[in-house]
Amino acid sequence: MLPVKKEIVKHLNEIADMMEFNNENIFKVKAFRNGANSIRGYDGDIMVLIAEERLSDIKGIGKGIQPVILDFVASGNSKLHAELISGLPKGITELFSIKGIGPKKAAQLYHELQITDRSSLALAAENNLIAGLQGFGTKTEEKISEELQKITENEKFCLIDKGFRLLSELETKISGIKGVSKISYTGEARRINEIFSALEFVILAESAEYVQKESARFITESTLAESVIEGYYMALQVRIYVTSSGDQFYSTLFKTTGSPEFLSAISYAGQSSDSEEKIFKDLGFPYIAPENRESEFIESQWIKDYKLPELNLTDFKGHFHFHTSYSDGFNSVAEMVETAKQAGYDYSVVCDHSQSAFYAGGLTPAKIEKQLEEIERVRDSGSRVFQGIESDILADGSLDYPEEILKNFTLVVASIHSRLNLTEEEMTARIIKAIENPYTDILAHPSGRILLKRDPYPVNLFKVIDACAANDVALEINANPKRLDTDWRYLFYAREKGVKFAINADAHSADQIAFVNFGIMTARKAGITAGEVINCYSFDQFRQFASRKVSRRL
Ligand SMILES: [Zn+2]
Ligand SMILES: [Zn+2]
Repeated sequence: MLPVKKEIVKHLNEIADMMEFNNENIFKVKAFRNGANSIRGYDGDIMVLIAEERLSDIKGIGKGIQPVILDFVASGNSKLHAELISGLPKGITELFSIKGIGPKKAAQLYHELQITDRSSLALAAENNLIAGLQGFGTKTEEKISEELQKITENEKFCLIDKGFRLLSELETKISGIKGVSKISYTGEARRINEIFSALEFVILAESAEYVQKESARFITESTLAESVIEGYYMALQVRIYVTSSGDQFYSTLFKTTGSPEFLSAISYAGQSSDSEEKIFKDLGFPYIAPENRESEFIESQWIKDYKLPELNLTDFKGHFHFHTSYSDGFNSVAEMVETAKQAGYDYSVVCDHSQSAFYAGGLTPAKIEKQLEEIERVRDSGSRVFQGIESDILADGSLDYPEEILKNFTLVVASIHSRLNLTEEEMTARIIKAIENPYTDILAHPSGRILLKRDPYPVNLFKVIDACAANDVALEINANPKRLDTDWRYLFYAREKGVKFAINADAHSADQIAFVNFGIMTARKAGITAGEVINCYSFDQFRQFASRKVSRRL
């Protein structure tokens, strides 16, 4: 039931967007936006309030919004939302989220240029019709073209969470086809790539023609050539390698799993066998787990003493770096801690945003006090939970609070969220300065990348890793599938330097705590073991870690 809050917030904001597009009364629009913010910031269980008909207890949830929420919770949609959307040109809402547009500008584009969707927007930009509109200009027009291009390009790719969801849907459908007796996904998914460009399977089946014919019900534009079916599923490329014997199945699986660079590095020349183990043996290697079949692995020290990856969620005890409704999270401290407990964690350290992250409701000194009281209440009810902070690294590399405040946190996660336009030298120096701060425990999402959306800012990660090693600061593997930052390709180097790691879901809602699994999958690619991960420390070990440089309240 927990994610419901997030969905209500989204629903109310969508209504506000559509009203804004329709140029409705600004106070009405604001009421919905404020309502969304109030719901987001509400600490209690929203379903209990609904059951007790006490929604109006939340400030900002007036008579106009209540029925919309009730309608949405009961049916998954609201009448108001449905009415608004049916009155809009189809495709216009996809413009609302394009960087630099939003509902207001979308309305202007619609009224002045009859732009109703992405393709008409692209056409107008191509013909330089947008630059002349009031409030746009040539620069904005160029930016819009770039954004559109990025969106179209990125539709060919997907992130790992969606990728696995689609793979599992497809696997069920393909397995259901008569004559398919064995199936495995392969390629980027089996190697645990952070981005998928295709959904690939190897199957053992009686007839490739029959599989193609049957799969055409869910795979579009499919073709069959040399026993490979190609087509699309949800705009993503699909490839199915159809084999007709066990030998062929395993050698195809082998061939399609390793990256081309890996296969050439191990001198694979098409050897065939009835198991992957035997193929490795013939090549003079131990069995190498699918996620390690990358050239980076071959080049790393780890190959000398290879052991299969063993890191598991059951090793995790400390839940760090997550957000609550005190900043931009969706759930209360108690809800987050309870969900973490259910996932097997033994202790939690809340790390909400710091004061400079005002756009994310960062914690002012007064809010820190208030949150601490709540954390203590949750602790008194029997949960091991402490107060930390995700402190912004300011432009000059200092942390976001004076020492009198910093010293009260149990754990400090340092990270960059703004001023991304520095040179590589400046950015590297800025981050290293934060790492050298004795209060810093974890460097979070060190490259700032948002996969398929924003490139990493320029930074020398090797130097950053050296600084983490020298200052005993843990390097984060941010497990949010949009980030997966630190990039796994740097983890081999970090391991060689003896750096400690923190694998954090950076959860902004209770359901996102499960993101940690993507971080674990990423860490396994570099062979990281529980002993290297501070989240796997027992509470006593954690206590020692937290106080290794400065004394901490624990
Ligand atoms: Zn962050
Ligand atoms: Zn965060």
